[in-house]
Amino acid sequence: MAKKAARAPKRSATPARRAARPSTPARKAAPRKATAPLRKSAARATTTAKAAKYVYSWGAGKADGNGTMKPLLGGKGANLAEMGRIGLPVPAGFTISTEVCTYYYDNKRTYPAALQAQIAAGIGKIEKIMGVTFGDATRFPLLVAVRSGARDSMPGMMDTILNLGLNDETVIALERATQNPRFAWDCYRRFIQMYGDVVLGVQKRAGEDHEPFETVLETYKDETYGNGHLEDNKLTADDLKTIIDRFKALVKERTGKAFPSDPWQQLEGAVSAVFGSWMNDRAIVYRRKYNIPAEWGTAVNVQAMVFGNTGDESGSGVAFTRDPATGEKVFYGEFLLNAQGEDVVAGVRTPEAVAELAKQMPKAYKELDRIRKVLETHFKDMQDFEFTIQDGTVYMLQTRNGKRTGVAAVRIATEMVKEGLIDWKTAVMRVPADQLDQVLAPIFDRVAVKKANVIARGLPAGPGAASGEIYFNADRAVEAAAKDKKVLLVRVETSPEDLRGMIAAEGILTARGGVSSHAALVARQMGKVCVCGAAALHVDYNKRTLTVDGTVYNEGDWLSIDGTAGEVYAGRIETGASEVIQGLVENDAEAKKGRTFKNFVQLMKWCAEGTRMTVRTNADTPEQVRNALAFGAVGIGLTRTEHMFFEGDRIDAMREMILAESLEARQEALAKLLPYQREDFFGIFKELKGYPATIRFLDPPLHEFLPNSGDQQKDLAKKLGIPVEKIQQRVHDLHEFNPMLGFRGCRLGIRYPEITAMQARAVFEAAADANKKGYKAKPEIMIPLVGFKKELDLQVEVVHEVARKVQAERKTTINYSVGTMIEVPRGALTADEIAQTAEFFSFGTNDLTQTTLGMSRDDSGSFLPPYEELEIVKKNPFATIDQTGVGALMRIAVEKGRQTRKDIKLGICGEHGGEPDSVKFCDAIGLDYVSCSPFRVPVARLAAAQAALAAKKK
Ligand code: ADP
Ligand code: MG
Ligand code: MG
Repeated sequence: MAKKAARAPKRSATPARRAARPSTPARKAAPRKATAPLRKSAARATTTAKAAKYVYSWGAGKADGNGTMKPLLGGKGANLAEMGRIGLPVPAGFTISTEVCTYYYDNKRTYPAALQAQIAAGIGKIEKIMGVTFGDATRFPLLVAVRSGARDSMPGMMDTILNLGLNDETVIALERATQNPRFAWDCYRRFIQMYGDVVLGVQKRAGEDHEPFETVLETYKDETYGNGHLEDNKLTADDLKTIIDRFKALVKERTGKAFPSDPWQQLEGAVSAVFGSWMNDRAIVYRRKYNIPAEWGTAVNVQAMVFGNTGDESGSGVAFTRDPATGEKVFYGEFLLNAQGEDVVAGVRTPEAVAELAKQMPKAYKELDRIRKVLETHFKDMQDFEFTIQDGTVYMLQTRNGKRTGVAAVRIATEMVKEGLIDWKTAVMRVPADQLDQVLAPIFDRVAVKKANVIARGLPAGPGAASGEIYFNADRAVEAAAKDKKVLLVRVETSPEDLRGMIAAEGILTARGGVSSHAALVARQMGKVCVCGAAALHVDYNKRTLTVDGTVYNEGDWLSIDGTAGEVYAGRIETGASEVIQGLVENDAEAKKGRTFKNFVQLMKWCAEGTRMTVRTNADTPEQVRNALAFGAVGIGLTRTEHMFFEGDRIDAMREMILAESLEARQEALAKLLPYQREDFFGIFKELKGYPATIRFLDPPLHEFLPNSGDQQKDLAKKLGIPVEKIQQRVHDLHEFNPMLGFRGCRLGIRYPEITAMQARAVFEAAADANKKGYKAKPEIMIPLVGFKKELDLQVEVVHEVARKVQAERKTTINYSVGTMIEVPRGALTADEIAQTAEFFSFGTNDLTQTTLGMSRDDSGSFLPPYEELEIVKKNPFATIDQTGVGALMRIAVEKGRQTRKDIKLGICGEHGGEPDSVKFCDAIGLDYVSCSPFRVPVARLAAAQAALAAKKK
């Protein structure tokens, strides 16, 4: 294998061609000038023993570096070395390490003194292995590719330059050696174009529609062959010569200098351009966005060229060792005959599927398939690789771990365990937790969606796909759904009053609102498909129309939304529930036979084995509990009791309670609510099958329950038999300047203990009922918004009092506990005091974030986007925990809570509980569980297991 390292095209070696070789001394390279910074000293000296090592060579089955050296050699360089080391056919080359990049920027863009000699030695090694010489104007010359390579591939970095080393003399040598003029001049044409563009900066100027080199090329084609499409590979050698002359003229005109003909000068220019590109604007912006430190630097790879453009026995392609969309273990990829690498991605011609190679070049295909297996056995992950076939011989140019969809990630991880390639712990670590919900999402038919037309974009708020007739209000949506219609609820924004419509709909589409808007929150909780904040939509409730770009859609028209991508399509696209949901939640026998289902279940089993924390769910209804348990939740971490008050005529009793003017009147109204609450809790205890339920007592400001519009207020007045003015007065009284910091949370129960008493009674009576039926209720009563121990004490007293009564009345004992949410800074800071009363803490990180940052989540749309752009906040703190700020308070509360009560139970119930980074943080600070919406449970379980496995490894 070693000997098979890339060679110049076979044709050059035939005796006939050799005979044609002129008698000029073979080793005479093109003249060199000592101007560029890389060549201060005499060229091509060998490395002095003491100098630091900057250049790492590979070739002929050996390599200085290996795959573990990504920080030093970059991702591309490390893996090229690794492939070379294990005997894969990689053209010889070397990597200039990232240390040189660092030196370059630390030293005013100059190079270490020893570098130049090391580069010369590196070229010397390639020459020896390949049997050709850089700058040789007499025989087949060594040509190289100069390729950038940071640790991870990074947009913004310099594009690869191919065929470097060509000039007016070496191109003739190449032509003569190969007897393939079109090939030789095609290489030269490509080289001048790439080098002119990326190194010399001959690029599109303001006002120009096309790249200047492309314009020259197209103009020539039109002049010579008429207007019409002509593929580049149809150009003759003579065409190419003329184009090259024009290219050179263009370079002269734009840069004021001739195109550099000295190969060494070309090489220096290219190397400097790579290092220079590390600090270009695009690269800086990208690094900032993905938090990549500038100190990492990029490496430069210089590698012998192999040629995919010598004819129809050659080609270039990219491939995956498995299908990156489905994860299926098939050879997947595409290639172009008679082409150099960049043609495949550039879309110059339409590539063919790699399977076609089996017919066109069976030997090369067999070799590639062999390599595909070697790559997987060696790297133990799905690989994304680049190859070139030169005259029937396969060469490897790159490999890396391939990006994949969530569905593919699950399949590949589980199947690789079965194949014995990786162990189950590695499999768990391999699936990106935030991609797991793709496996749960309803899906569009793949073929159909390709033909569909995107009319608007918004935030991908609820993953999955949904198609339906559009309805603009909840009632009509429910009505239509009752007639078995598929419905999309379209609103400017949603509010709790739309809930019924949202439940009835296949998907939710809003014109306003962000990822934490009501629509998005509900969508996540219910696992609904949702696109929100699609600003291009103009909804007219009166006319019942939706206008996008001048096109009008009426109620009942079909639209489709993709909540994974945030796209809105015109018309209907076929969808279906994911196999996993059909199998787990709907208990569908057919779905359970499915591969995705089985893989998912297997993965979740491993998660259970690897995790330390458990996962609970935020749920208000028995159905949500059922779903969450099916996904492996082990209890409820948050039941929001107020959600229960919106249904049916409960809201009337609730409003009556709020409007009551005396304790008696209030108690009368509360008595009406009691049976509803009891029934709800019973349903939940029953569904929980003995798992615990954390029940939060009334939390939101009361005005949220009162009607705002005059009409609704009149309706209510009529219903309750009171004057409408009284309602208006109460709405007025309850108005607050800062509702978030106002009369809410335990403050409600402190002022109206009878509300707390009613809720406690409902919980305990339901628990007694459940126990009697054998369901073993475990209520954990949670008092919200506590900042003072005394607040909790007062509320807990009410709870215990009711508990005593109910237990005596029912002659039973109830297994309950009381605790609090930690959601205001004072609560966290005095957690040692609060833990004297609280048996558990649950971090309410939504409010804790609002109160710690002093930012209202619901108003954050106006200031957070620029905050993220300017990196004042690294990520949206309402989506992922602000670990340094909010996280510090959480750590304090954990520590102080445990000081007072060693076995205090600790959890989190904010929206963050289903976000992978936050879950990992919760594991790090030692919480016992996280709680999240039912459809996030698998994501949280995976993140929790990954956190625990990573911690164990350390
Ligand atoms: P990127 O990081 O953008 O993928 P690469 O450095 O991998 O850039 O180069 C892009 C393409 O150029 C490769 O896919 C390959 O087809 C071609 N290429 C790179 N190096 C060589 C080489 N030594 N010989 C022939 N083609 C090459
Ligand atoms: Mg590449
Ligand atoms: Mg709260």
